[in-house]
Amino acid sequence: MKYYDVMLPVPAGGIYTYICETELKAGQRVEVPLGRRELCGIVTGENIEPRPDITYREIKTIKDDEPVFGEKYLKFIRMISDYYCVEVGGVLNGILSGAVLESQRTNPEVKSFERRDITLNVHQIPVYDAISSELNSGFSVHLVYGVTGSGKTEIFIELAKQVIAQGKKVMYLVPEISLTPQIENRLSARIGFDVMSYHSKKTPKKRNDTFWAFAKGDLKMVLGARSALFLPSDDIGLIIVDEEHESSYKQEDTPPYHLRDMAVLYGKLLDIPVILASATPSLESWQNAVSGRYRLHTIPCRPDTDMPDIEIVDMKKEEPIGGVLSERLYNELYKTIENGEQAILLINRKGYSHTLYCRSCGEMIMCSNCSVAVTYYKSKGLCKCNYCSQEIRRPKCHKCGSDDISEYGAGTEKVAEALENLFEKKILRLDTESATTYNQLSKMLKDFETGEYSIMAGTQLVAKGLDFANVTLAGVINIDNMFGLPDFRSKERAYQLLVQVSGRAGRASKKGRVIIQTNAPETDVFTHLNCTDTGFYEAELIRRKLFNYPPFVKMCRVTLSHTKEETAKEAAHYIYGVLKSVGGDAEIFYPAQAPVYKISNRYRYGMVIKTKTNSEMSRLINIASKSLKENMKSTLRVRFDRDPQFFM
Ligand code: ADP
Ligand code: ZN
Ligand code: ZN
Repeated sequence: MKYYDVMLPVPAGGIYTYICETELKAGQRVEVPLGRRELCGIVTGENIEPRPDITYREIKTIKDDEPVFGEKYLKFIRMISDYYCVEVGGVLNGILSGAVLESQRTNPEVKSFERRDITLNVHQIPVYDAISSELNSGFSVHLVYGVTGSGKTEIFIELAKQVIAQGKKVMYLVPEISLTPQIENRLSARIGFDVMSYHSKKTPKKRNDTFWAFAKGDLKMVLGARSALFLPSDDIGLIIVDEEHESSYKQEDTPPYHLRDMAVLYGKLLDIPVILASATPSLESWQNAVSGRYRLHTIPCRPDTDMPDIEIVDMKKEEPIGGVLSERLYNELYKTIENGEQAILLINRKGYSHTLYCRSCGEMIMCSNCSVAVTYYKSKGLCKCNYCSQEIRRPKCHKCGSDDISEYGAGTEKVAEALENLFEKKILRLDTESATTYNQLSKMLKDFETGEYSIMAGTQLVAKGLDFANVTLAGVINIDNMFGLPDFRSKERAYQLLVQVSGRAGRASKKGRVIIQTNAPETDVFTHLNCTDTGFYEAELIRRKLFNYPPFVKMCRVTLSHTKEETAKEAAHYIYGVLKSVGGDAEIFYPAQAPVYKISNRYRYGMVIKTKTNSEMSRLINIASKSLKENMKSTLRVRFDRDPQFFM
């Protein structure tokens, strides 16, 4: 009879001790009782000092004959737990689905594909050589900064082939599921077997198969979104994080991890190389590269086309055609359609119109649960809150009670409608409302690829990695609303979005054109859009340093929420006092109502902490967390968002 510690996906705790007659190893899955429930968890090791005053319960079932999770994997979970100040049970809960923890091992076959090889060009070979020579030298981080369509993916494929030939495994991480329908086949055809993909839109059975194929089977390379980093396996030899700048890599649930940072952490733990890739790197990675912590590899041009020409149109001087198009963009769209080519248009907004207004008193229509404006969706004839998902069929003014409500602004639906009238053609509208399922999205992309539509218009989704040979025009309908956001990254985001959407045009042999409409053409974001002009990065780093923003300081946003306004406020002030007294030279900001003050009827207060180092940040949030637990109501929710990406 021995005692074992078992890690369970219980957010409020994590490690529980049980007894077992059979000898167990760390990393095996077991089923155990907890209260009146039965849960699956992972054995973390023997407990050699069980407490005599506790009657431990017995492990019910042993699910694996051998460990599925390695020692380093278990250490990785503990490191995430420490870094984000979340119990290990919360980490486990957040990174592995319950279905996977409970799953029966399967033995799926990895289908082979007919392999198609290509030869790397003169710009790709130096990057390949440099990384290739380090594949067996332990931990290193490579930032591959190459313009959109410069052939980064092809370099990674060649490197992956080398790693696989040595019997090791490769993780290829991408930010958006929308990209995977194209890329899964492309990778498979180049690698020579089905590079299975792992993400939340796959059926549980497919996910389960991919899990086991990678963990214990023959799958040597997996393609996935965030959660794929947490597939366990013993001989991982390379981790690739594509589009490393994407803010969707930051998890908004618990734990609030940033996948890029976790991939680097994991790579260090496993002592293997990590590749970060982007045409528009994050300022964090850029700074790491210029300071020499990461190795920088630049690819200045595309294999066989020039980069598109970029034109800025001053909308102040225009009489918009159909209410949305400058004459320049209208003419170019017309020409594109006439030539049998395609265009992609970015509309930086969701819904038919952004907001609804009361016509009698001018008040904006807000969600009753959250302090945010609701969004109107004309095709569904309803309004929806993007925070709590409440749907409102007949909006009424909460101030004067009037139901005389009108719309304002141009969302994707409205632009699509205007374009359809102007060009007498069906427009493909791509946003998270029109493409709600993975299959829907795949079908839409396929229809566009086969030429069923000439114009695709959509939100930021259209800027993300799409690769259509026949697209020669990219247009930006509006972008100005991104400049004024209360977020120190708003410029970085606008810049990345513009460069990325520009990158959709002229991917194949035909040269592309980009037209950007704006009311603020003097904004400096527009002056460095041409490829490999690092002017934006240089200017932005100076600004960040001046104002003490990341990457020059570490940041954490603390949010406290409660159904009682007073309780949230009190807790915020209490913790502010604690932090001030132990904070040393950290900057602790006075607590304030969060930008979205109320979500799902919970009131939110927040404050920001800035420190010089990560270890100082860890020290402060540990003190804060402990002191809140000891002194505050258990119904209070606290969240430590380290390296925050969003400030709502
Ligand atoms: P990125 O990942 O930088 O956006 P990709 O790797 O997707 O670029 O390459 C863009 C396009 O160019 C793809 O269609 C790809 O097949 C093609 N390509 C890249 N490198 C080569 C090469 N060496 N020879 C031929 N085609 C290439
Ligand atoms: Zn709401
Ligand atoms: Zn009103």
